[in-house]
Amino acid sequence: MKTSIATVCLSGTLAEKLRASAAAGFDGVEIFEPDLVAAPESPQELRALAARLGLTIDLYQPMRDVEGVDEETFGEVLRRAEAKFVLMKTLGADLVLCCSNVATATIDDDEVSAAQLRRLGDIAARYGIRIAYEALAWGRYVDDYRRSWRIVELADHPAVGVCLDSFHILSRGHDPAGIERIPAEKIFFLQLADAPTLSMDVLSWSRHHRLFPGEGSFPLGDLVAHVVRTGYDGPWSLEVFNDTFRQTDPDRTAVHARRSLRHLEDAVARRLGAQAPASLTALTEAGQPRDIDFVEIKAEDTSQVEALLELAGFVPRGRHRTKPVTLWTCGRARVVLNEQHARGLASHLSAFGVAIDDPATLTARADELGTPRAYRRTYATEQSLDAALAPDGTELYWAADALDEPAWVREFEHGTTRVAGAVDRVDHISLTLPWQVIEESVLFYRSVLGLSVTGTTDVPGPQGLMRSRVMSSTDRSVRLPLNVAPPATVERGHAAGLAQHVAFACSGIEDLARAARVRGLDVLPMPDNYYDDLAARFPLPPERLALLRELDLAYDRDEAGEYLHFYTRTVGEVFFEFVERRGGYDGFGAGSAPVRLTAQGAGVRPGSVRS
Ligand code: MG
Ligand code: MG
Repeated sequence: MKTSIATVCLSGTLAEKLRASAAAGFDGVEIFEPDLVAAPESPQELRALAARLGLTIDLYQPMRDVEGVDEETFGEVLRRAEAKFVLMKTLGADLVLCCSNVATATIDDDEVSAAQLRRLGDIAARYGIRIAYEALAWGRYVDDYRRSWRIVELADHPAVGVCLDSFHILSRGHDPAGIERIPAEKIFFLQLADAPTLSMDVLSWSRHHRLFPGEGSFPLGDLVAHVVRTGYDGPWSLEVFNDTFRQTDPDRTAVHARRSLRHLEDAVARRLGAQAPASLTALTEAGQPRDIDFVEIKAEDTSQVEALLELAGFVPRGRHRTKPVTLWTCGRARVVLNEQHARGLASHLSAFGVAIDDPATLTARADELGTPRAYRRTYATEQSLDAALAPDGTELYWAADALDEPAWVREFEHGTTRVAGAVDRVDHISLTLPWQVIEESVLFYRSVLGLSVTGTTDVPGPQGLMRSRVMSSTDRSVRLPLNVAPPATVERGHAAGLAQHVAFACSGIEDLARAARVRGLDVLPMPDNYYDDLAARFPLPPERLALLRELDLAYDRDEAGEYLHFYTRTVGEVFFEFVERRGGYDGFGAGSAPVRLTAQGAGVRPGSVRS
């Protein structure tokens, strides 16, 4: 499988983009014309640079508004095209993208478009150049790949074929199965982009919201499987423009982009099964995580978090044999408090672990995906856990799923082993991420852990809407809501707005809330307005509502069940939530999140735990 990336996907100068693409392991590039026009290097120098980097120039793009025009306009098209063909010869590019006409077309007739493409093909052929004709989703007359193929078929010229672009096909809801009717030799190029499901005009959707494969909701594995079944063996090329990637480091984006193709290759290989060509390899199957194994909170001084856990019924399981690290447990919930290499750091979620059937398979899979590994100094007597670095810097560990408790727990000594309490396990870990890593994080948890996006919400908060995407395992034993921090919050370094939180699943939450309150746990107060609103939303008996109000318990309900929960105050950059799901409730109490965000933003200082 040959990989390619359009230079429009990356930020920086054209030379920087070429270097980033090569370093990330791409085989070739599509040169986006404005990148070339703005480059200080000559086409000869760029050709030499690409060759030195081992990159082929697979496509030059785009040539616009070439067909469906009157004869006078077409004369101008031919003059313009010939100048570009001369340039392409110098650059060493022999394939040009021609988009369906969006502006100057006045003739809605396949025969006319085909005849014009044929004449363009004649001139291109003289330069040894071929034309890949692409139906744009917003083309004036030609906006469907099946029609662009019909026109190419009519043109019947060896230098004229189609370019298939997943965005233009899937954004319009066109069935990709028809791709299999196109002979492989007439598919000159394949461009790939994912996108979130949005309801907006297709041009803005394309310009601002394209995503790398695996980050959005398009069925790309299905589309590419149809392409591969034709026998197409040309490049799989990423053409992704959005507002984030244009502003972020090109080296990082290119690596991430390459990983998205590796994951897509896996999806296609699996879909094709025995039909898959030898050039496609599936990733090692690691299965989904069984549970959250532990969460780790790191700080110079973890005593405030310790106090909070104790008030919630956790017990100290022990101190690590060799490190300034302690383990607190309740039921199957394990919290590691780490003071190693933490000078000057406020409490924050630094790592979490998942339990998996066979850790070696996940290690192999992460390596195949080119995932950066996290390494810690370990000692001979210790169990070494493999770990990867998530895009936001959180470390993700994996260990063998154990019936009783994982082996690494035995490294902690001199604590109590009483583990009964209201808390049973970690229900979810809510990660608030800077806006520029959210897409990358979706792909990370999807490709490495096999989680899928099971929900998308916008939560109104005092700093604006907080976009949230929930990633879960199929059986919901692992749930990770990923929240995009509003940019203003990130810039001001507002701790509460950026706070991560760990939610513990418990039973008997009213008792826990009452007991914790008696012991002095500093629960985040819920305003009276919230309870008045609850009374309006749900037909709750008055005594039940009074109890919720008294205990600062938040409440939600869906068709399947109920959700009761309360929050602690924020310590540093972390807080806890205690939740009880009754029935099959699958949400996160979205109705209470705006209240929580407001309460946390309202002058709450880090370190406000009563002790
Ligand atoms: Mg395209
Ligand atoms: Mg109250």
